Amino acid sequence: MGARVVVLGLASDFGCQVQLTNIEDHLLDVLGLIDLSYWQLASSGHMPDEYDVALVEGAVTTDEHVELLRKVRETAAVVIAIGSCAVTGGIPALAGTGDLEGRYEAVYGEGTDVARGRTRPVAVTSVIEVDYIVPGCPIDTGEFLKVLSRVLGGLSDKPSEQPMCFACKTRENVCFFEKGEMCLGVVTRSGCHARCISLGRPCTGCRGIAPEANLGAARDVFEQHGFETARSLHAMNLYNTNEEVAL
Ligand code: SF4
Ligand code: SF4
Repeated sequence: MGARVVVLGLASDFGCQVQLTNIEDHLLDVLGLIDLSYWQLASSGHMPDEYDVALVEGAVTTDEHVELLRKVRETAAVVIAIGSCAVTGGIPALAGTGDLEGRYEAVYGEGTDVARGRTRPVAVTSVIEVDYIVPGCPIDTGEFLKVLSRVLGGLSDKPSEQPMCFACKTRENVCFFEKGEMCLGVVTRSGCHARCISLGRPCTGCRGIAPEANLGAARDVFEQHGFETARSLHAMNLYNTNEEVAL
């Protein structure tokens, strides 16, 4: 029997789970290697009590999520955080900046108790220790398959820690800064084959800040091209509000 795998989603648009369905050519190969015990997007049953590998998508926004994650961590030998929401807090974490309670009242009216049981949105990686990450919004299926095959082979996986620019230049892209546009590839973790830039759009940083990014040098690049630090930080916050980013 293959490893018993569960796939679950917290606060997200389930885009990364949908992306798993795009594995297409490889899906049957993957399913032949694992025992897919539960897939929240596709299963009508309940999550089993026992499993070996948990794939978790989405940000943590409720006490219930926190409790579930602790149980997942106790049960699974391997936990993989997939997608920006789970890895860096992503878009859901934006809601946690500033006056969260005020936002509930603005949307649901004064005296609402909708905030009961809810927490300030954070990444899965902020609540439990995870064994592997697959960053991105949505995840890259090739990277996901690589990580999964390493998990099944009992091997570790170290995601790229470098920013995007080298990968971008090897694809002979013209730098967006030369065209007067901001690109966050200069600080963003590589590993997506500079996907957006190669398709003609600047990087918005969905893979999170690269651990090896030189933020001081990045600030100089932003400023030299006319982008004030406050604006650059605002752009970097899109996927990184859970991190203390200082330029
Ligand atoms: S800043 Fe963006 S466009 Fe310029 S080299 Fe880096 S990744 Fe490529
Ligand atoms: S280029 Fe940037 S925004 Fe696009 S997929 Fe890669 S990390 Fe995400």
